[in-house]
Amino acid sequence: MLKIVNPATKQLIAELPEDSAETVKAKVLAARAAQPAWWRTPFEQRKSAITKWKTLVAEHKDRLARTLTAEMGKPLQQALNELNALAGRVDFFLANAESVLADEIVQVSSAAGGTEERVRWEPLGVVANISAWNYPYFVGSNVFVPALLTGNAVVYKPSELTTQTGLALAELMYEAGVPRDVFPVVVGGGSAGAALLTQAIDGVFFTGSYKTGKRIAEATAGRMIRVQLELGGKDPTYVCDDVDVEAAAASLADGAMYNAGQSCCSVERVYIHEKIARPFIDAFVKTVREFVVGDPLDLATYIGPLAREEQLGVLEQQVADAREKGAQVLVGGQRDSARKGWFLPTVLSDVSSEMSVMREESFGPIIGIQIVATDDEAVRLMNDTEYGLTAGVYTKSRERAEQVLSQVNAGSVYWNCCDRVAPALPWTGRKHSGIGSTLSTHGVRAFLQPKAWHLRNPA
Ligand code: NAD
Repeated sequence: MLKIVNPATKQLIAELPEDSAETVKAKVLAARAAQPAWWRTPFEQRKSAITKWKTLVAEHKDRLARTLTAEMGKPLQQALNELNALAGRVDFFLANAESVLADEIVQVSSAAGGTEERVRWEPLGVVANISAWNYPYFVGSNVFVPALLTGNAVVYKPSELTTQTGLALAELMYEAGVPRDVFPVVVGGGSAGAALLTQAIDGVFFTGSYKTGKRIAEATAGRMIRVQLELGGKDPTYVCDDVDVEAAAASLADGAMYNAGQSCCSVERVYIHEKIARPFIDAFVKTVREFVVGDPLDLATYIGPLAREEQLGVLEQQVADAREKGAQVLVGGQRDSARKGWFLPTVLSDVSSEMSVMREESFGPIIGIQIVATDDEAVRLMNDTEYGLTAGVYTKSRERAEQVLSQVNAGSVYWNCCDRVAPALPWTGRKHSGIGSTLSTHGVRAFLQPKAWHLRNPA
């Protein structure tokens, strides 16, 4: 049985029967059998099912937000924010999937013996969607919504930490008219995910850590199926010497600590120009001290417990390592003694790239701020990472921002903003942050394969 424990109360909130290798196989086979009819279903019918699903999700928003808060400790207001923003992503897919599916006519000829050439886009078939827990409404639907719209069957494995959320989304999908076998849910942890990978699937779309992503790449090597991996980050931001210090500090503190820092695109490193280092760090610490830490069910709470108890140990080690190598802990730096499972929002200064807090994904409410002397030094340090998900610059000058950001090796770059995802832009990582794109038309195309038609008229 899969046990789901509320990270805030430590109470067991659900025990769910876990899928075995046999039941996973049966779900994939049923999806295989159901997919051709789903693909033959007119696009308008698939679109109307997803439209209805969107409406149902909005109608059940309060219940869904509470389920997420209970499962992973996300503050209720932030769970509601996620659900509200979900509609915009679904709208993008509803508005754009049909044109991505349309045939591309390369050459037309009505002459006898002439050749017409066209590209027709077909679904991959049965795809696995193995998901993370930190934004389950986003990362799940970034895959299953465009995949279903384009005629695929999706075998969806939500994270073991947010399985009730995944099951609730699927139930609403069935209510909206998507057949159960076209969108089966696999319940379980890593072993259920590994079992899914051994089945006859046509693609795997994964969101999670680099460590697991690497395993997935290895497990599928040689299978010749589409593999898309959205992995972690160590996202840097550089603050230039011309900014409004208080506004930049407030924006970046939010970017680092929202969802207790458990976002793939959380700001994980800050480089501050030496000319404004002192006032910026003071303003940053002031903002962090004002964050409301507490019960995630309270709408005023900004920082709740970490979803994973083990992560508290990782953060403690990062603080200890940084202290040992000369960092200053300006605020926080330890577990919350009043609440089991919370880590106090933490700001470290005098950090360097030798410290694990500046190298390894923290995935918690902790940030290192490093002083730099020039834009070139900032660029060098921003690129000094195995990851390449996002990177940002705060400056009044767009030219200066573009100069810096064009040299940074990351899938998304930000000027005067951070921790941001847009439905019409590709969401894509480089290096250990992954391969492939979700969102945008690229994230629809990802679920399709081209067939080249060569059609010769009779002579
Ligand atoms: P994780 O790697 O621990 O787990 C992700 C999923 O993989 C879960 O469903 C898990 O059950 C499954 N899994 C575990 N072992 C498996 C195996 N051997 N075979 C198949 N499946 C297996 O990651 P997590 O803790 O759920 O999520 C946090 C990570 O996800 C962070 O690194 C974060 O940066 C990243 N993330 C990235 C994005 C992005 O868009 N790039 C978005 C959200 C989260």
